Amino acid sequence: MEAAHLLAGRGLRVELFEMRPQASTPAHTTGLLGELVCSNSLKGTDPQTAHGLLKKELARLDSLVLATAFETRVPAGKALAVDREAFAAAITRRIESNENIRIIREEVCEIDADMPTIVATGPLTSERLAARLAEMAGSDRLFFYDAISPIVDARSIDYSRAFFGSRWDTGSTDYLNCPLSREEYEHFVAELLEADRVHAHAFEDVRFFDACLPVEVIAGRGSESLRYGPMRPVGIVNPADGRRPYAVVQLRRENLKGDAYNMVGFQTRLTYPEQKRIFSLIPALSGAVFHRYGSIHRNTYLDSPRVLKTDFSIRGHPRTFLAGQLTGVEGYLESAAAGIYAGLGLLSHLKGGELPVPPADTALGALVQYVTEPREERFQPSNINFGIMQDPGEIHRKRRREARLEREYRSFENWIDSLSGLI
Ligand SMILES: Cc1cc2nc3c(=O)[nH]c(=O)nc-3n(C[C@H](O)[C@H](O)[C@H](O)COP(=O)(O)OP(=O)(O)OC[C@H]3O[C@@H](n4cnc5c(N)ncnc54)[C@H](O)[C@@H]3O)c2cc1C
Repeated sequence: MEAAHLLAGRGLRVELFEMRPQASTPAHTTGLLGELVCSNSLKGTDPQTAHGLLKKELARLDSLVLATAFETRVPAGKALAVDREAFAAAITRRIESNENIRIIREEVCEIDADMPTIVATGPLTSERLAARLAEMAGSDRLFFYDAISPIVDARSIDYSRAFFGSRWDTGSTDYLNCPLSREEYEHFVAELLEADRVHAHAFEDVRFFDACLPVEVIAGRGSESLRYGPMRPVGIVNPADGRRPYAVVQLRRENLKGDAYNMVGFQTRLTYPEQKRIFSLIPALSGAVFHRYGSIHRNTYLDSPRVLKTDFSIRGHPRTFLAGQLTGVEGYLESAAAGIYAGLGLLSHLKGGELPVPPADTALGALVQYVTEPREERFQPSNINFGIMQDPGEIHRKRRREARLEREYRSFENWIDSLSGLI
C-alpha cells in the first residue's frame, strides 16, 4: 500500500492486487487493507530510540501507514498504538478513493517479469505465489520459517567471564565464548525447562526443522542434549585455565563494528521476560542488555542479501521488486518503510536512473543495508534497532544520542536531496 500510494501520488496508474477476502491467510480475518494481524502497537515514538528515528524518517517520506496511525491513535504511553478497526478502515478508504489506484481482489499466482511489479505479499504469502518467487530467486533462497536468536549489546557483556576464540582456533576474535561450569549448566537447564513459553498461534506449525529447534525443545530431549548441541564445548579451550569448559554459549559478531552479538543457535519460544531472566544465568551475560529477543514463527521471506539489488529489485529481474516483510525486514513500520523504498526503486527504474542508497546511520539506510549486504551466515530477518545502525563513533556516552540524532538528520536530508525530484 505504501508503494501504491507513493507511485499513485507521482501520477502513475497502479493496479493493487489483494487476495482477501476471497482467499485469506491463516492470520487475517477481514478483507480490509492494512489489517494488523496481532498487536495494535507500532512501537515507540521517542526519536532517541531506533523505532522513533524510523518514524521520523517515515513522516518525512509521507508514509500513509504512519499518518493513518497518528489519526487513529489510542492512548498507550509513549507507544504509538491504534484502534485497529479504525486504522484498517481508514487505510482502505484512502486507497479506494485514490483515483490512480485500481484494487483487484484476486490471488496472484504468476509474476510477469516484463511488467513493472512490486511483490509485497508478506509473511503469509500464498503457496502458489511463493512457488513462483522461489522459481525467480532460486528455491534455496526462499525461507518459510524464521528462527531468530537473541542479540546482545556488546557493552553489556561481562568480558571477565568470557573469552574470544573459534572452535579449534584460539586466535580468532569472531566468536566470544561464554563458559559455564557443571553446576551453572545444570541450573541453567533446569530453569530453562520450567520457563514460560509463547504459545503458538493456532495456524503455526509447531513441528520444527532440526536446523532451527528452540533451545528449550533441545533441552527437553535430555539433560546433556544442549552440551551436544548449541552449548557444545568441543574444540574450545578457556585460556584462564587451559581447559575445555563444561558447556559454552557462543556469541558471534552481529556486525562489522562488533557492538552487537548474536547468541549462536539460541532460537527460542520463551517469553521475552523469561529470556531475559534465563539467559542472564549465563555468567558472562548476567547484566546483558538485549537488542532483540529470540523467536520462531512462520515467516515467508527471501534470502535478500543473495537475491535483492540495493533498489530492492530481484537480481536478474530488473522490473520485479520486493517490499514489506518478504525482504527480511520485520515489523509493521519496517515493512511500510520497505514499501516506500521499493516504490522509489521502481520509480527510479522507470525514469532510467539508479536509486541512491540511504546511508547506514539513518534508520531506513540501516534496514536497506541489513537486507542487501552479503554475509556468510544464514540470513535472519530483523526489525530496526541500534545494533544494525551505524554507530555515531567514539563519542562520550552522554552525547551519543544527541550525536546520533544530529548525524542521522544530516544524512537523511542529504539522501532526500540526492533523490532529485523522486520525493
Ligand atoms: C501471526 C503474526 C503476528 C504478527 N505480529 C506482529 C506484531 O505484533 N507487530 C509487528 O510489528 N509485526 C507483526 N507481524 C509481522 C507483520 O505481519 C508484518 O510486520 C507486516 O504486516 C508485514 O507487512 P507486509 O505488507 O509485508 O505483509 P502483510 O501485512 O501480511 O500484507 C500482505 C498482503 O498480501 C496478501 N497476499 C498474500 N499472498 C497474496 C497473493 N498471492 N495474491 C494477492 N494477495 C496476496 C495478504 O492477504 C496480505 O493482505 C506479525 C506477523 C504474523 C504472521
